Amino acid sequence: MTDFQQSDSPFSSFSCSPADKIFLDGAYVRILPQFAKLEAIQIQNEKKILDIFRESRLESAHFQWNTGYGYDDVGREKVEEIYAKLFRAEAALVRPTIASGTHALALTLRGLLLPGDEVVSITGTPYDTLLKVLGISGDEPGNLREFGIGFRELPLSAQGKIQISELANFLSNTTKVVMIQRSTGYAVRPAIRMEEMEAAIAAIKQIRSDLIVMVDNCYGEFVETKEPVEIGADLAVGSLIKNPGGGLALSGGYVAGTESLINRIANFLTAPGVGKECGLTFGQSRSILQGLFFAPQVVNNALKSALLFASVFEDLGYETYPDTKTSRGDIVQTILLKNEKNIEVFCETIQKFSPVDSFVRPIPWEMPGYSDPVIMAAGTFVQGASIELSADAPMREPFAVYVQGGLIFTQALYAVAEMIAYFRQ
Ligand SMILES: *Cc1c(COP(=O)(O)O)cnc(C)c1O
Repeated sequence: MTDFQQSDSPFSSFSCSPADKIFLDGAYVRILPQFAKLEAIQIQNEKKILDIFRESRLESAHFQWNTGYGYDDVGREKVEEIYAKLFRAEAALVRPTIASGTHALALTLRGLLLPGDEVVSITGTPYDTLLKVLGISGDEPGNLREFGIGFRELPLSAQGKIQISELANFLSNTTKVVMIQRSTGYAVRPAIRMEEMEAAIAAIKQIRSDLIVMVDNCYGEFVETKEPVEIGADLAVGSLIKNPGGGLALSGGYVAGTESLINRIANFLTAPGVGKECGLTFGQSRSILQGLFFAPQVVNNALKSALLFASVFEDLGYETYPDTKTSRGDIVQTILLKNEKNIEVFCETIQKFSPVDSFVRPIPWEMPGYSDPVIMAAGTFVQGASIELSADAPMREPFAVYVQGGLIFTQALYAVAEMIAYFRQ
């Protein structure tokens, strides 16, 4: 244990009490042995990215951009080439004009599905914002149900696993797209790890090889050393203001996968016959690629932050998912805080120790796309970027807070130190 009288204690300048510092130190020291394993993953992913930048002969000319239609936008083409190689995919769409992860997922589904088709989720209820896209909640004009596209879900098992043995019965003749959500979303369940996903995809392809497997890859990128397409998925979809943007991408989303499918989706993004060949990047190629260059390191900081929150809150007697002993499949840390007040204190503290908007008090509000009031703490450089330290919670049972991100691990240390006094009572 560290001696807190010494000025070289990492926490010596923290404003919490000496007892809280000892408490924090205990939780911190407990997770230190895991940092080496996380760093090994970071190094492998960084090497992969650097190699791809070299192989693709990235040069500063690729940071130029065009106007108008954006024909021959070399930056856009290079970004999409690099993303395709990174995900071991034939092609990729990576656009700053894809407004969010939800937009990227909705775009993909709308690009793939025709009236009479069915899309299924095999990881239980999809992420909240997708419910309105699918038309299973609300009645938003343009939802998939309105177009005659069906949806069903196969829940995860009681242990939070994909029910692989049920797939043959579950999938129907009209099923066209099978969705797998890698991260937990607003559910208390484990993330899907690559090994489990690989087994599920193999089973799906054995049932019918033409089924399209689409992975919602949000929060999963660079947590492991493999990504969904290289283990058999047809498409991986995600947000640039989460893991792969490394905190530097200002906006955007991506879809990577089979070329014919990417071309279909691109026709939906622009227009049939226009596809991928148009679309301005507004000068974002440099920050998208620089962010990608940083991404494994940022994900490492986010994973260390998640582990720290788990460790501190376990010591405080709260249930955490995953716990500190379980291998991680995403950057999200779920903590069951039991009541609304605890959630508010948690989110207020995250906000208070943020680099931006530290003086703002988060309150629950009716966010577009979500069915319950959601409280969100995100004192971020990029609005709503949840690769930066952020916490959110839908105000509903079981009063779980979802904390994720952290461009720097220090911010998590500092914020959690300031929570200990309240949660120790
Ligand atoms: C964040 C997220 C999305 C997309 O959310 P946006 O806020 O629209 O970017 C989709 N699925 C999961 C699992 C997510 O975590």
